[in-house]
Amino acid sequence: MRIIFLGPPGAGKGTQAQFICQDRNIPQISTGDMLRHAITQQTRLGLEAQEIMARGELVSDDVILGLVRERLRQPDCELGCLFDGFPRTVGQADGLKEASISVDVVFELQLSDELIVRRISGRRVHEESGRIYHIEFNPPRVDNLDDVTWQPLIQRHDDSEAVVRARVEVYREQTAPLVDYYKNSAVRYFEVDGNATVDEIRSSIRKLLIVVEA
Ligand code: ADP
Ligand code: ADP
Repeated sequence: MRIIFLGPPGAGKGTQAQFICQDRNIPQISTGDMLRHAITQQTRLGLEAQEIMARGELVSDDVILGLVRERLRQPDCELGCLFDGFPRTVGQADGLKEASISVDVVFELQLSDELIVRRISGRRVHEESGRIYHIEFNPPRVDNLDDVTWQPLIQRHDDSEAVVRARVEVYREQTAPLVDYYKNSAVRYFEVDGNATVDEIRSSIRKLLIVVEA
């Protein structure tokens, strides 16, 4: 099964993706994590993407589609995968279609505007594992340390308030058209209330996945 998580920054895509991927033993394909990894490794792609991401803009469709196609060739993707933060433009969604990569279900995580900045500005991450925390809503057991490794958590550079506002604009202009794109397609489509608690969202998505499989 191939699953897409769509939604604005802070909607909880990464948080929920980690649960579903663990439950179902499928890989999480987060293009954001892949780009951040390239930046850490200082690859050519990383150097190219760094400034674009710092402004909250989108990396080009060609680059992203190249990354995703290469990732999907890995054997762990055979039984399916969860796309987290991809596709982000109609061009990327068309690219999937052109490559005959079918999608079974889209979950749109909706989040009210006033929560976006609060969610993002409190986000802290464990860089190596991608584990996600929130200083207010999902704090680590010890202040600013990862629960598993006890290594320090970081705040992403693009999680500053100014960049978040730019990212929300980009979402509205370039990604939100995917709502109609997928609603008007044969792909199963579910809206999920991202304002609910982590556990509530987790259990609604689980239930919906059982419906999809039935
Ligand atoms: P969030 O889910 O918090 O919005 P991501 O980690 O998904 O953040 O993405 C961070 C940044 O990485 C984006 O602002 C964008 O610059 C880049 N990025 C990630 N995925 C894509 C994509 N599919 N297409 C273009 N740019 C992307
Ligand atoms: P996205 O991948 O959509 O940008 P994340 O999963 O990274 O979103 O979540 C953004 C921030 O909000 C993180 O700090 C996370 O711990 C927190 N968070 C995620 N889901 C919820 C929720 N349902 N309620 C409260 N906080 C949440």
